[in-house]
Amino acid sequence: MKPVFKEAVWGGRKLRDDFGYEIPSDSTGECWGIGAHKNGDCEIAEGTYKGEHLSKLWEEHPELFGNEDGKYGKEFPLLIKIIDAKSDLSIQVHPDNAYAKEHENGSLGKTECWYILDSEPGTQIVIGHHAKDKEELMQMVEEKRWKDLIREVPVKKGDFYQIDPRCFHAIKGGPGILETQQSSDITYRVYDYDRKWNGKLRELHVKQSLDVIKTPFQPAKDQRSITHTEGADLEHLETCPYYTVEKYDIHGTWDHVFEAGFVNASVIEGEGSINGRKIKKGDHFIIPADFGTCSFEGNLSLICSWV
Ligand code: ZN
Repeated sequence: MKPVFKEAVWGGRKLRDDFGYEIPSDSTGECWGIGAHKNGDCEIAEGTYKGEHLSKLWEEHPELFGNEDGKYGKEFPLLIKIIDAKSDLSIQVHPDNAYAKEHENGSLGKTECWYILDSEPGTQIVIGHHAKDKEELMQMVEEKRWKDLIREVPVKKGDFYQIDPRCFHAIKGGPGILETQQSSDITYRVYDYDRKWNGKLRELHVKQSLDVIKTPFQPAKDQRSITHTEGADLEHLETCPYYTVEKYDIHGTWDHVFEAGFVNASVIEGEGSINGRKIKKGDHFIIPADFGTCSFEGNLSLICSWV
């Protein structure tokens, strides 16, 4: 895949310095590695379909994805990003499918998850809040008691967080993150630290946020489990109604047949090959449905996802 880059007021240079991507500027916030969203439709980088957009392949070649019967939907369902947040992102929440459908022109809600690629000691992120019920939440927001409201947790490399819709969250400056999410762009901003970007405050969506934020906060269940096999350590990270995410640490040679339909793969560390084709850190690719045996070689860490 050929990634799409998104500049952002909170972005930095890590996508070039750590991943070797050619980024558009020193404030680049996101690399959309695999996606067919209208705001970032990745192109195929090489091979038979070189230069085609993923959205077009999804439409015209459903057999590549095991989607002949349309079971995975009309649109490519997932979006895989690498995020470099040099400064804090706004505190936000995403609606679920039901709310988005009613209030956002039939859009999908957004469930996302984060794998922490790197992090300086002392880095925190925001997951959840401390309000016991809706009333207290509304009061704390109205009185701008952000410090009391926000639930900050320390993060380190290798941590994983599932962010269900209606969960209050924010990436704070510092960590590099690989995000796997439903292909949706709907974000309600609750608080932006009263910062001005180019002289202006960014729009907030307090009403929608208060509508959707779940009270009280409940952390998502940890599903992580590791299986050691000859040639690779396999870690199950998450299965939710929208995706399964796994991590593979490959050392040497490892053959694997994916039983899912198509599989999104991102190399987050190392280099090597798959079926003789070179891959390295920062590469994103799709393993088509019914591909058969994937023969990996090298010292590689991959994050893979499927629906
Ligand atoms: Zn989010």
